[in-house]
Amino acid sequence: MGKNKLNKNIVLFAMILIVVFLLYQQITYLYSDYNNNKKTLVFMGNNNIAPIIFEENGTAKGIVVDIAKELGKKIGYKIEIKATEWQEAQNKVLLGEADALLQINPSSEREKLYDFSNELLRMDFSIFKEYGNTDIYTAIDLKDKNVGVESGGYPYYLLTEYDGINIVTISDWNTGFQMIKSGELDAIVADRWIGKYELAQSKVEGIEVLEKPIETQYSRIAIKKGNEELLNLINVGLEELNDDGTMADILSDWQGKKVVYFTEESIQRTFLYAIIIILFLISLISLYGVRRFRALNKKLELDVMERTQELNNANEKLKKTNEDLERISMIDPLTNISNRRYFDSFLQKVWESSIRENLPLSLIMVDIDNFKMYNDSYGHLAGDRCLRNVADVIKNTLKRSGDIVARFGGEEFVVLLSNTTEDGAMVVAEDIRAKTENLGMKNEGLATIITISLGVASVVPDESMYPENIINAADQALYQAKKDGRNRVERVDLLMKNL
Ligand code: GH3
Ligand code: MG
Ligand code: MG
Repeated sequence: MGKNKLNKNIVLFAMILIVVFLLYQQITYLYSDYNNNKKTLVFMGNNNIAPIIFEENGTAKGIVVDIAKELGKKIGYKIEIKATEWQEAQNKVLLGEADALLQINPSSEREKLYDFSNELLRMDFSIFKEYGNTDIYTAIDLKDKNVGVESGGYPYYLLTEYDGINIVTISDWNTGFQMIKSGELDAIVADRWIGKYELAQSKVEGIEVLEKPIETQYSRIAIKKGNEELLNLINVGLEELNDDGTMADILSDWQGKKVVYFTEESIQRTFLYAIIIILFLISLISLYGVRRFRALNKKLELDVMERTQELNNANEKLKKTNEDLERISMIDPLTNISNRRYFDSFLQKVWESSIRENLPLSLIMVDIDNFKMYNDSYGHLAGDRCLRNVADVIKNTLKRSGDIVARFGGEEFVVLLSNTTEDGAMVVAEDIRAKTENLGMKNEGLATIITISLGVASVVPDESMYPENIINAADQALYQAKKDGRNRVERVDLLMKNL
């Protein structure tokens, strides 16, 4: 049962394959038939009238070649175009080996041999002359001038119609243009398409073409006489090409190809100019950039300098403020001598160095006598002045750099004499006392003058002692001086031993 079904399927598949194969064969046959049946026309043309028609690598090219191809599409023919030597091309058509001639101007003789289509390509026979030659503008101006033409072409015939032109046949275009430059020729007359193309090819410069042509003609397509059907077909095709704009497209396309005519030299020159301009622009931009960069840099430098200066000034101010602050924190504002805080730290340092060096150290405690009364009599401001006077006396009495005076508190002063023995300190103390007395500041409350009492203490400190010990000792001596009647100096004998 299963085997049977399988067989059926194989048969069905084979049949489908056969049908597909037959269909394929039929289609390819029909297609090739259509191709073979599409009739081919052979058009001949001159191989040497670029850019209108010419031969390049065995292929016909040019303006009318493009037109003929489009024409074929319009009339449903495949058109084969061959560009050969001109005589050969004409012969082929006359012998029936080809169907039509592209690009030919009718003449009475030719009309005996061919039928001509409607207009194919507009030919402007124009004057080519040296740029800046102001003698020549029209054909009339060519009288008595040497004018070059190609041999056997329409321009030769055209110039013979005018009187007095010295017609010169040029061997090739390049030579012709060179002759204009050298003055041997005044002008060349040629179809604008051809002349411009050849001018570009020849690389001769300084030659222009006059805008207004001497004559305008239209070339045509020629076919062997008597084939009216083909002639009509061609004319219909040409009309369609004109109507639907194909013709205009082809022409503008070839006008655009003028760029191809650019001589290598001019391309190189244009390129060179472009490079020079670009380099110039780049230089300008760079120069601008560099200048701007420099200006910015300079501004930046100035800014930085300014900021640095400001910063330096600020630092300077800060330093000064700090110094002031430090000084203020160490100085008694009333008497302008060191304050208690400074004295304490200074004593600590001197104490330590005296231990290290094993040197004596003396301290004088000073207290103004009966100062309360002075204040009471003269007022606090006068009391302040008195304090300043006593401070100045002490300050001015001290000579050595290691000696300092500080306001200890109220109307008490302390004098620290480093590296000074008790005897030395006694001399200094007595000196201070005497000078204060000598100031002669009146103390009305007692009907006497201002005096001071001084207590002196000395010691060679060691590790077992403290700075407070010497302060207390001097204080005791001062107490003794007060007790003994004031205006005197007291020392504490063997004081340190009691500590
Ligand atoms: P003594 O001889 O025993 O030292 O008597 P005194 O009157 O000097 O002693 P006391 O301690 O009784 O008085 C000290 C006075 O010093 C009290 C105060 O009016 C005065 N005094 C303290 N500090 C200042 C100050 O800064 N300015 C002024 N003007 N007076 C001060
Ligand atoms: Mg006192
Ligand atoms: Mg006192």
